[in-house]
This record gives sequence, C-alpha cells and structure tokens, in this order.
Amino acid sequence: MAENEVPKCKICEKRIESGEFCEYHELAKKNVDANYDNWNEAYGGDLSLKQYLEKIAEHEKSGRWVREVAEYLLKNKKF
Ligand SMILES: [Zn+2]
Repeated sequence: MAENEVPKCKICEKRIESGEFCEYHELAKKNVDANYDNWNEAYGGDLSLKQYLEKIAEHEKSGRWVREVAEYLLKNKKF
C-alpha cells in the first residue's frame, strides 16, 4: 500500500486502521458529540454547535484530546 493510502488520524496523524481519527480522538469526539445536548440544555437551548465548540476549545477543564477535537471541528466543519 502506498504511503499516502495509510489512514492517519486527521488531528494527530497517528496511523490508524480505519476511519478518520485515532482511538483517543475518536473517543474524545464521541464525548464532544454526546455532551452538546447537556450544554445546550444548561444554556437554555440557546447554544449553537459552533458556540459550544468554541467554549470547550477554551475551557480549561476540557482534556487535551477534547480541545484538539473541538479546534479541529471549528476549523473544518461547515456551520
Ligand atoms: Zn489522533
């Protein structure tokens, strides 16, 4: 297989078997997705996905993986 066909995590470029992200970033992304509803509820249903990602990207209590996922999504996702 050519080097450029080896799948890599889109965030940290670690080699992966399949998909878009390594196990750490995949898990962090699941947490990010799963927590949006909770945050949105806490903000009275007024929190857009973009605002949510901006908040967790800056949140000092967010783990490194979560912050990296949020930053990646902010850069690459179309809102
Ligand atoms: Zn990764």
